[in-house]
Amino acid sequence: MSDQGILAVVSGFSGAGKGTLMKELLRRYDNYALSVSATTRSPRAGEVHGREYFFVSEEEFDRLIQEDQLIEYARYVRHSYGTPKSYVTEQLQAGKDVILEIEIQGALKVKEKFPDTLLLFVSAPDAAELKRRLAGRGSESEEVIRARLDRAKEEAEGMDCYDYLLINDDLDACVEEMHRIIQAQHAKMSNNRRFIERIRSELAEC
Ligand code: ADP
Ligand code: 5GP
Repeated sequence: MSDQGILAVVSGFSGAGKGTLMKELLRRYDNYALSVSATTRSPRAGEVHGREYFFVSEEEFDRLIQEDQLIEYARYVRHSYGTPKSYVTEQLQAGKDVILEIEIQGALKVKEKFPDTLLLFVSAPDAAELKRRLAGRGSESEEVIRARLDRAKEEAEGMDCYDYLLINDDLDACVEEMHRIIQAQHAKMSNNRRFIERIRSELAEC
């Protein structure tokens, strides 16, 4: 068992299927903790306060920033989104693998603060399929879909900063691939400092 849980960031174009993948990953495996972000956007049909997001006003969001309660925050198509700090640190210490499903600016800030963070980027197999999924979800206006596709073009410029690319074609295969990549991080030397120290001191006694 490595020193503590793995911190993994999952980003990707809007409509690529990040939310769907996260739900399935959490349904299949029980060592994951998905961070619930705060946002100023309105809930979509079926979204519940405290489950998908903490839906807050602009004023409440500003207060979270002032009180240093967020690990990172960013603007995304007219709204603010941020990751609450306390849940992430508690879950990592408890040995859970914590997933942040956040956009690219936030991902890079997290990597700066916690250099061992694993960065995963999710894409649909091609742009036409991405458009179909985004429109098919039926949760955004034409105008917001356009803005999200424009944002996808910017994100594509930065996606090569990520450690791994996950192409979400077959959902089942993609969930398993994500699980394998995250679990492989437990074997990294940098995640096993406690073991290294212990074996060194045991060997010193031999
Ligand atoms: P994101 O969270 O990345 O914005 P969603 O999880 O909301 O994306 O998925 C966008 C749409 O694409 C949803 O309608 C979802 O059911 C669909 N979808 C997700 N993954 C797949 C997949 N592998 N194949 C086909 N449709 C998918
Ligand atoms: P959506 O409105 O589709 O739920 O999310 C829009 C974008 O905001 C997605 O790319 C999502 O990953 C990102 N996002 C969600 N929560 C956070 C967060 O806490 N911080 C940052 N930086 N981005 C977030």
